[in-house]
This record gives sequence, C-alpha cells and structure tokens, in this order.
Amino acid sequence: MVIESIVANDLCVGCGVCVAQCPSGALVMDWNSQGFLQPKLKDICNADGECLKVCPFNFEPEASVRTEDEISALFLKQSNQSSEKIGRYINLYAGFASKFRLTSSSGGLATFVLSELLSRGEVQHVVSVKEASGKNHFFEYGVHSCKEDLLRASKTRYFPVTLSEVLSQVKLLEGKVAVTGVPCFVKALRLAQNRDLVLRAKIGFIVGIICGGLKSRFYTDFLAENMGVKPDNVKGPSYRVKDLMSTASDYSFACEDGATNLRKELKMRPLGDMWGTGLFKANACDYCDDVATELADISLGDAWVEPFEKDGAGTSVVVTRTLLAERIIKDGLAKGELCLEEITEEVFVHTQRGSYNHRHNGLGYRMKLARKKGLLLPPKRRDGYSLSVFFKLVQLQRMRLRRISLSYYGKRESTQRFIKRIARERQLLKLLTRFYHYHMRMVSLWNRMCSNTFKNNEEC
Ligand SMILES: Cc1cc2nc3c(=O)[nH]c(=O)nc-3n(C[C@H](O)[C@H](O)[C@H](O)COP(=O)(O)OP(=O)(O)OC[C@H]3O[C@@H](n4cnc5c(N)ncnc54)[C@H](O)[C@@H]3O)c2cc1C
Repeated sequence: MVIESIVANDLCVGCGVCVAQCPSGALVMDWNSQGFLQPKLKDICNADGECLKVCPFNFEPEASVRTEDEISALFLKQSNQSSEKIGRYINLYAGFASKFRLTSSSGGLATFVLSELLSRGEVQHVVSVKEASGKNHFFEYGVHSCKEDLLRASKTRYFPVTLSEVLSQVKLLEGKVAVTGVPCFVKALRLAQNRDLVLRAKIGFIVGIICGGLKSRFYTDFLAENMGVKPDNVKGPSYRVKDLMSTASDYSFACEDGATNLRKELKMRPLGDMWGTGLFKANACDYCDDVATELADISLGDAWVEPFEKDGAGTSVVVTRTLLAERIIKDGLAKGELCLEEITEEVFVHTQRGSYNHRHNGLGYRMKLARKKGLLLPPKRRDGYSLSVFFKLVQLQRMRLRRISLSYYGKRESTQRFIKRIARERQLLKLLTRFYHYHMRMVSLWNRMCSNTFKNNEEC
C-alpha cells in the first residue's frame, strides 16, 4: 500500500519505518533513480495497511494522529507552552556544550544530551547516524552503547539514511534507547510507537534534528565533483567543517579522494545557496510544515542569527519539550557544562526564518498545485495564505529547480554541464526573489503610510 500511494506519489522520505513495521516483511529499502532510499516490494504482501499507518505522509491518517498537533498531544503532555510555529514546548535556548562544540556540527548539544542520557541510565543505547561499513552508503543509523561511539557519531550528515534495519535491532535490545531524527523520521517513530507497545516502551527519548530539507545522495557527489573528486572515489565525506576565523554559516565540505588518498576541502559559500533553492531536495519536503521538529523530546538546530552567527565555532538553538529534556539542560547549566541563554519565540523563529517562509507561507499554494495534478497529500495545518504573484512565481521556480536538479544530475551529466544548465534557472530564482522582496517592502511602506494617514485623520 505504501508503494502504491506514497512512493508512486513521490512522497516517500525513506525513513524505512514501514519496512520495519510491515508484519509480512514484504518490503526492503533500495536506491531510486533520484538518489534517495525508498521501499520496494520483495515478497508477498498481506495488504493489511500497517505500512501506511506509520508513514509520515499517509494521506488518510486516523483522527487521533491527524497532524503534528494531535500527535504531540499524545506524547508531549508535559510541555506547558504552545506556539503555532514551534509546537508544544517548555523552554527555548541558544548556546553550546563546551566539551563537544568543536567536534560537533553546531553547538554540540545533540552529543551532550545523548551522552547525559547514557550517563544517567535514562537509556542504555543511542540510535544515531554513523559512518557506514558498506560501499553504497557513506552513513547509516547504528546503535551506540558507549560514549566513545557517540562521539564518533557526532556531526550532521546530509545523506540519505534509513531506520528500516536498526528498528528491528532496537526491539531485541535490553533496555531503552534514545534516537536522533529529522522531523518526518520523528513523526514516523511516534506513529509507530502509537501502534507498537514494544517500541513505545523501548524508545525512551527522541532528539529532534531541525531540518531544512532532505538531500539526495547526488548532493554529496555534486560537492565532491566540484573539488575534482569522482563520486566513486569519495571517502569519509564531512559536510560541516567549521572555520573558527569566520562565521558559523561559512563552513566547508571535505572528503578524501580515494584516487590520491588526499583530503580536500571546499568552501560552501561560493557555490551559492544550496538550501533555499531546493537543489537535490526530496519532493515530500515541499509538503512538510514541521520546521521545529515538533514531536521530539528536545529539538536542536543552528542559531544563525546575530550575535550567535558571528562565532564560527557554532551555536545551537534548543527547544525543550519534556521535563527530562529540561532537567538535562538545567543541570548542564548549573554544572557549567553548558553555556546557554534563554531566547524568545521571536528569536527562535528568526533562526529558521527561511524555512518558515517556504514551509509555512508557501505551503498552501504548493498543495493547491499538487492537488490539481491529482497528488494525494496528508492533511496539513496551513492550507493557504493569500500570496503575492511574485511569491507564487518564487514557489514555482523553486519547485522547478528541485525537480530538474535531480533529473539532470541523475542523467550523469558532467558537473560543468550541470552547473551551466542550472545557472540560468538559479539566476531566474534570484531575480524573482528580488522582485518579491521589493514588492514586500513597497507593501509595508504603503501600509505604514495608510496607518499614519488614518492616525492623523483621527487626531483631526
Ligand atoms: C538534513 C538536515 C538538514 C538540516 N537543516 C537544518 C536547518 O534548516 N536549520 C537548522 O537550524 N538546523 C538544520 N539541521 C541541523 C543541524 O545541522 C545540526 O545537525 C543540529 O543543530 C545538531 O547540531 P549539534 O552540534 O547539536 O549536533 P552534534 O553534536 O554534531 O550531533 C549530531 C547528531 O545527529 C545525528 N545525525 C547526523 N545526521 C543525521 C541525520 N541525517 N538524521 C538523523 N540524525 C543525524 C548524529 O549521529 C549525531 O548524533 C539539519 C540537519 C540535517 C541532518
């Protein structure tokens, strides 16, 4: 069922929870032609629909798990605040964990929290993303039961990974586990926990990784080719090499060239915007409105706003949603292991402004376009804002760039030809975005003038 309705509609994110939870074991994960992992049928399916019920993009969910709002009401009862943009939460922070900051991608909060959970005996194992042993995958989910392994598994991996195999392993482990995951993976885990008592008992904590979109494996190949490394020769890619002399968002990609055994580095900034343009992004991400990983116990992202962005060592934004998460943070502060300050909702939203603008404001329009094409979509909480014509054009061009980046690159064009073909489309997106920003400035100027005139008239 998941193949006919989700994979066929290009809404699969490759989380693999359907594969792990299929009672007839009929599914297996495999690469598709766009460089993403997705399930395919390997055996006779008893069509009980369990796969669809744990899918984050199920278009017919039960009322009790309709959207993130209903699911969070089931799992995050301890949170005492609620925000339309952030979801249920207890507190918001920005800062870093001194011990892990330099070996992590952002402020090292993920590794700190996971390490605390192990030390306190809250969980006995951690399921996070580590370097893979197989040739076809650079990274994979794995189980870590000691702090040394945890440290090796730090850092952000912009590469397709799946929970399909590790979840079966989790069920056989003694004790509880903590899992890291991006929003759609966390939603799939919560849906699975809601139906499977073993997983509900086993998964004691979820660390949510805030996500601006899942990248195809072509992204890694593309970055490597930009440094003259052939995709087949890429070893040990690292996506977030910090520059301590620069700002936090000025990071590099690095990998070893298997042909020469030399490690090479590439500054990302000169390549242009890899996130806002939607290059190499999964289609489903255009229909996700969970910016803040609303279903995790704690959500972590990058604080790329002033004054935090200035520090090239990296600063995390933190959303605590359960008492245990809040206690770990407060204890870390009291012991001096964390350097964090409380931030307001506005500051948090500002750290993810691009994501909110695309995923919240533009969602209704994209859904309208998709429905016109007959695509089946899950219910969403934001199904329409009135948009300016320029913003609609920006949406259309982003969707086009996403689509053609995957199809051109999938045809194994040379990097230079690919860059040339894409350059014109990126230029057009830049122009449309500029028009949109200009239009917004004019609208706000007009509104201000109107409200001043109104005030003056009233005073008269
Ligand atoms: C695809 C993707 C997109 C992202 N987009 C944004 C964004 O738009 N805005 C933003 O603020 N932050 C984004 N992040 C999160 C950010 O890059 C950091 O991962 C996060 O802030 C945690 O940093 P840290 O220093 O606390 O983590 P670290 O201490 O370095 O630990 C990272 C932990 O996450 C695990 N991990 C790494 N990659 C993955 C993965 N793909 N899936 C699940 N677990 C993983 C690691 O195994 C490790 O346990 C994104 C991350 C990913 C993977």
